[in-house]
Amino acid sequence: MNLSRHLNEEDLAEVESLGDGITRLEDAVANLQQREAGITQMVNPPKFVLEHYSDELMKHVGVELSPISVPYPVYTFEYVSAGGNSGQRSSVTLNRQTIDVLIETMSQKIKWRKSAAGQRALMTTTLRNMIKTRDNHTCRYCSISLSAEPHLLLEVDHIMPVSKGGLTAPENLQTLCWRCNRTKSNRIIAAG
Ligand SMILES: [Zn+2]
Repeated sequence: MNLSRHLNEEDLAEVESLGDGITRLEDAVANLQQREAGITQMVNPPKFVLEHYSDELMKHVGVELSPISVPYPVYTFEYVSAGGNSGQRSSVTLNRQTIDVLIETMSQKIKWRKSAAGQRALMTTTLRNMIKTRDNHTCRYCSISLSAEPHLLLEVDHIMPVSKGGLTAPENLQTLCWRCNRTKSNRIIAAG
């Protein structure tokens, strides 16, 4: 992304889709950690086993989880004055919060063309949560819900894809479980 030219709607859409990716990854990692905690609780081993033999125990119960974390992209910005004798460096980690702030800042800087894209909502964590609540944390395709499956990964999907002119507006957004969302994307790729 080249920041020296004017930001446009496509840049914003790119950052929003990066936000989608990071959110999915964060949810998946949180989900794995919950499952791991669940398994440990279920087996209920003596405390000393957990303290000293946690890895071996997980192997014996058939679970092998490597420590997993979200590999956030880190961007380093460097400013050097015209004379080259003073400089500033700062780093930004692109996690969910940073991306939300970036999306809002970009949106304020964009000189919106009088286009449909300018009339849309911003795809932020707040909007994603709003859509999931509106849909009762239930997949609109297969009707599986978070109450039925506590570890369910739900995602917010554009009914008409952004690439085909679909807007980020509540009426074009729906909650899907990750399985249905993957099936849908595969169908679109196959059709395209
Ligand atoms: Zn589903």
